[in-house]
Amino acid sequence: MKALQWHGAYKVEVADDIPAPTVTAPGDAVVRVVRSAICGTDLHPYRGEIDSFTPGTVTGHEFTGVVEEVGPDVRHLRPGDRVVASDVIACGTCWNCRRGWHYQCDRVGLFGYDTVVGTTAVAGGHAEYVRVPFADVVLSPIPEDVSDERALLIGDVLSTGYACATGGGVKPGDTVAVVGCGPVGLLAMKAAGILGAATVLAVDPLPARRALAEEHGAVGLAPGPDLVERVRELTGGRGADVVLEAVGTDASLLSALEIVRPRGTVSAAGAHASTAMPMPTGLAFGKELTLRFVVGDPISVREPLMNLVRTGRLDPTFVISHRMPLAEAAEGFRLFDAGLASKVVLIP
Ligand SMILES: [Zn+2]
Ligand SMILES: [Zn+2]
Repeated sequence: MKALQWHGAYKVEVADDIPAPTVTAPGDAVVRVVRSAICGTDLHPYRGEIDSFTPGTVTGHEFTGVVEEVGPDVRHLRPGDRVVASDVIACGTCWNCRRGWHYQCDRVGLFGYDTVVGTTAVAGGHAEYVRVPFADVVLSPIPEDVSDERALLIGDVLSTGYACATGGGVKPGDTVAVVGCGPVGLLAMKAAGILGAATVLAVDPLPARRALAEEHGAVGLAPGPDLVERVRELTGGRGADVVLEAVGTDASLLSALEIVRPRGTVSAAGAHASTAMPMPTGLAFGKELTLRFVVGDPISVREPLMNLVRTGRLDPTFVISHRMPLAEAAEGFRLFDAGLASKVVLIP
């Protein structure tokens, strides 16, 4: 089959001769991919930031498709079902899964991400076919009247943006600042609106991203030395009630801690990996802040999100800038890495 493989920093290539996956465990399904997407998380291996990443890895953790084959233990799916996959692979039965904490699953994994999450590598969705472990848990049916493209982002960035907003405890009337207006930030902003945020401030260095946020009702702000002052001016001198951080760097987290009001909450959904965070504890203590980190959990939130998508209250496709054949995936990575694409969807 055709699939994209990672071979090193800035080296990804589509090959035609990769063996198609088969059912190898009783709970597996094999899915024929209909749509997949490139995520910001994919840029870490792309940029060579993960030393342990194994050459030959088929990347991609957001995908929809059609079930081709199921193992004998799969009860809720049959061949022909249209499905969206959760990026997070979880068993559904361990202590953490039973509490709905799928990212903490004893057997957690992430499609197409080698062993960076969990201990077992599972080939990803930038391919024509994917083997899906724990298929009853990981896959969810797509209603007939919802297109693959509208369902696709429930598998990661929409669930992550939603988790960021709910994790921040956004309440009706709140002023919410979003730091980072990539797809997760933009969708966190939409989720904040659904939770009742009165004002959304959208912080991003790229004018095109600020413009997109403004089209959707936010006030765009550029980061910089005057950001704290600008946010104060817009919030009666207090700061934002809730800050949704969707970048994942020390600088963005620091910025979030600076612009949140005293007794406010910072909800961080950026993929943080720093070991040197210079945590401004004096600032956090003085403001009596709540800081929490969230990882999107599609398995837990896909049902309410699918309802929002299906009824048209939420259309996540506005974050998609490019649609291209899987064969051109390397170009998709190049555009996304260069900031020339906000979200790339691949079509096998
Ligand atoms: Zn992702
Ligand atoms: Zn589990």
